[in-house]
Amino acid sequence: MQSLFADFSAAWQPGATFLRTPGGRSWTYGELDEATSELAARLSVSLGAGDRLVSMLERSEWNIFLYLACTRCGVVYVPLNPRMTPAELGPVIADADPSMLVCDPVLQSKAEQLVEARVLVRTLDRAGGGSLRHGKVPAGVVDRELDAPHPAAIIFTSGTTGTPKGALIPHALFIGKARALAGALRFTSSDCLLHAMPLYHSHGLFMTVHAVLSVGASILFLPKFDAGEVVRALPDVTMFSGVPTMYTRLASEPGLKAAAAAIRLFICGSAPLKPELFEAFQRESGHRLVEVWGMSETMTNTASPLGDRRAGSAGKALPGVLLRVVDDRGVEVPPDTAGVIEVGFTAPFGGYWRRPPEEQPRMREGRLVTGDIGQLSPDGYLTILGRTTEMIISGGYNVYPREVELALEEMPGVAKAAVFAVPHKDFGEAVVAAVESNGTSVIDAAVVLRKLRDRLVPYKIPKALFIEDMLPTTELGKLQRKALAGKYRHYFR
Ligand code: ATP
Ligand code: MG
Repeated sequence: MQSLFADFSAAWQPGATFLRTPGGRSWTYGELDEATSELAARLSVSLGAGDRLVSMLERSEWNIFLYLACTRCGVVYVPLNPRMTPAELGPVIADADPSMLVCDPVLQSKAEQLVEARVLVRTLDRAGGGSLRHGKVPAGVVDRELDAPHPAAIIFTSGTTGTPKGALIPHALFIGKARALAGALRFTSSDCLLHAMPLYHSHGLFMTVHAVLSVGASILFLPKFDAGEVVRALPDVTMFSGVPTMYTRLASEPGLKAAAAAIRLFICGSAPLKPELFEAFQRESGHRLVEVWGMSETMTNTASPLGDRRAGSAGKALPGVLLRVVDDRGVEVPPDTAGVIEVGFTAPFGGYWRRPPEEQPRMREGRLVTGDIGQLSPDGYLTILGRTTEMIISGGYNVYPREVELALEEMPGVAKAAVFAVPHKDFGEAVVAAVESNGTSVIDAAVVLRKLRDRLVPYKIPKALFIEDMLPTTELGKLQRKALAGKYRHYFR
């Protein structure tokens, strides 16, 4: 079987630019080939096909090179956020059971304490220096022939709903989804993606970089996300991909509209995009966002069709994706009815790494039961409404937090709302809300709850409302309702 590197490389011109940085460093596809060939030769001296390599690197193009080198020699890449604490990293690294850990030189001693003595610890800095590249390039294997289905990476899920799970992703799934996305969004070799996303999540590394590689397009690589820097770089690129919080910041950046005049696509995914943000971004930039919906286990499943992007919808199924919304019994529901989203694809997901059968994801007729709740319009547009684990069952009624949050966010003084379940002796679970102020007026909880009664049926009205300085979110801007539910779990006791 061919690696994803071999598959994508069919589209590359050796002299064409792969990646450049604002500092003026530039890499052609020929140089990408050389850098990854060197790294693969070094890795294959001590790592076999199927061995895991944990990477804890600072953001740089060397991150991408190391990942691609792994795919060439069949090593399974496991990217982790170097800023996680040892307590967070320890169990995840033990779970991955790597043969090598590659980190920034400043993290070497932290890394050595996190792994067993038999694990090789190597360093790689932002400029490509470090112990991984010391010494003459050995005559190691570069491109290994791989058995199908061969895993390319283990992506640890964000842990929004529980502990992170290692999703094992085969080369074929990455290849199939990259082609489906690049095809639907009409990526070409003339496109240039402005890249400012973390490289240890599926959005920043696998979704966007793969789509670029699949057509031989290029990347303008920023050292980090900074709204001002992004706006300054927009005239030099054709597209940008980010999460909703980034678009909130970009929308209030002066000069956005002029800088974005020649942009072909603004892509948004990873967390819920509110219709108001879609509208605000359009007003401020002149562009309608392309929303994508995906997960670590499946990569991208839907995208807004280029010709008809609708506020509040994550678009339609990508080519090859089977999408269905079902009720509690697994029976498909009629259009415009909420239910659990199931997705299938030609190349299957490899399951959760080293988890027993009872912790494997549920599959039904070849489709993954995602745990996301959504509804499909009669013409196939998907709206994401939340997650099954976050659904509240209060007095026998199902309450979707998102619906209550959207109503709360229209109340005076409320910037953001989070709705979650708290144990209650009469209702089983009580609907409870926490809100963040917009800073302009004082929130009166009693007034907010009274006004909410004009909008929602009584069982959806929160039984308590707390005012928080800041609602907890993950790095990609996902609301951590589970943290709030923990904080207030004894409230009705
Ligand atoms: P865990 O599985 O560990 O609880 P997680 O599901 O947040 O964490 P990821 O795989 O990184 O981990 O994220 C996938 C999830 O992100 C999806 O299941 C969905 O809930 C959410 N998501 C992704 N894109 C969108 C979108 N466009 N709109 C709403 N939610 C989205
Ligand atoms: Mg998940």
